[in-house]
Amino acid sequence: MVEIKNPLYNCVAPSTQAVHADSHTRVTSDVSPPISVSTTFEYNKEVVDACNYGPDQRHTYARESTPTNIKVESVLSTLTEGHAVLYGSGLTAALAVLIQYKPKKIALSECYFGIRKVLEQYQALVPNVQVIGSECSYDGVDLVWIESPINPSGEVKDIAAYALRAHAAGAILVVDSTLAPPPLSYPFRQGADVVVHSATKYLGGHSDLLAGVVVTRAAKSAEAMRYSRYVLGTGAGSLENWLLLRSLRTLTIRIRQQSVTAARIVALLESYRRSAVVTACHTPTALELSLGRCLSVVRHATLQINGAHCNANIAQQHPEGFGAVFSVAFASKAQALFVARALRLHRFATSLGGVESLVDWRHAWDETAEPTVLRISIGLEAYDDLASDWKQALLALDESEKKAAAKL
Ligand SMILES: *Cc1c(COP(=O)(O)O)cnc(C)c1O
Repeated sequence: MVEIKNPLYNCVAPSTQAVHADSHTRVTSDVSPPISVSTTFEYNKEVVDACNYGPDQRHTYARESTPTNIKVESVLSTLTEGHAVLYGSGLTAALAVLIQYKPKKIALSECYFGIRKVLEQYQALVPNVQVIGSECSYDGVDLVWIESPINPSGEVKDIAAYALRAHAAGAILVVDSTLAPPPLSYPFRQGADVVVHSATKYLGGHSDLLAGVVVTRAAKSAEAMRYSRYVLGTGAGSLENWLLLRSLRTLTIRIRQQSVTAARIVALLESYRRSAVVTACHTPTALELSLGRCLSVVRHATLQINGAHCNANIAQQHPEGFGAVFSVAFASKAQALFVARALRLHRFATSLGGVESLVDWRHAWDETAEPTVLRISIGLEAYDDLASDWKQALLALDESEKKAAAKL
């Protein structure tokens, strides 16, 4: 078997890692790796016997490994500072973590609803598994699962603080880092033991592949997970592997740009919201009222660090900025849905992390999500165009409410 991780690339910058970290696995002279769709690979005839395929045998059967899969895992392992194992979806990756660590008592933070559904499946399979909140006492807890940044709010958690608490209780800390992949965050640096990503989101980045990744700190755990993936057939398909490899090359430049644009849109919406509030020193103009009066709360990590609950750990956790997902709450469900439909450059669809901006009404998926809240995922469109889109949608909402009121 070829070594997946090449330590030579540990000390180059993330953008260089994304392009070169798999170069030791090259088997052809193609500059762009070819799509490999074969499910089976010829034996090394000189050495093959009943259970020895020989030292040069890189691959035998696609459920175990493929040329592209090795490349994807090389790049992901280097970028994430761990040992990456790729799965068919983010939720399959989550299930793989449970199968590997077999927790009996899990502390869970607020998270993507699908993670809760995976835990329900696990609980149906393994009797007497307890799930408690991540703010409860960790007495008897063997696995702490947090999400940071949180889907859908885009707010972040102090990972180091959870790592301390988890380790003091003898538990491992799993961080779902889907909303802030490298170079935005590196949860192992804060003490995480396992990091999970839905690769369907930023790692894939083009809304055209479904995959998930588990990254472990210890090489041995990744080996065990690869074996279990081989037995269960939970890996990603050939085309998904290839699309993901292609996408990873541009990950750093995409996510840095998305992060900057999202922070600016969040600042704009928060300024609209504030300017519509009457205070002792500010009387809103008619335009300020029209733009901001329906915005009740904007949530994002950038507002967390500027806010009253400023936490130095949180800023350190994100050396290059925060994720590009945030949420906006309106005064009513009807207002939220009006804006979701009125936005033109933000397509009204679920998911996040792609090159196109999306707006989603999470309540349709997750009954625990407030019906007044929209989740926004900022893509690669120009800031000015996205800002104009918000302006026209908010003004359209204001006008439609004024018309409705005039009819009464
Ligand atoms: C989308 C998502 C998942 C699930 O990933 P899939 O690839 O859709 O299975 C898990 N966690 C978070 C935070 C997500 O946003």
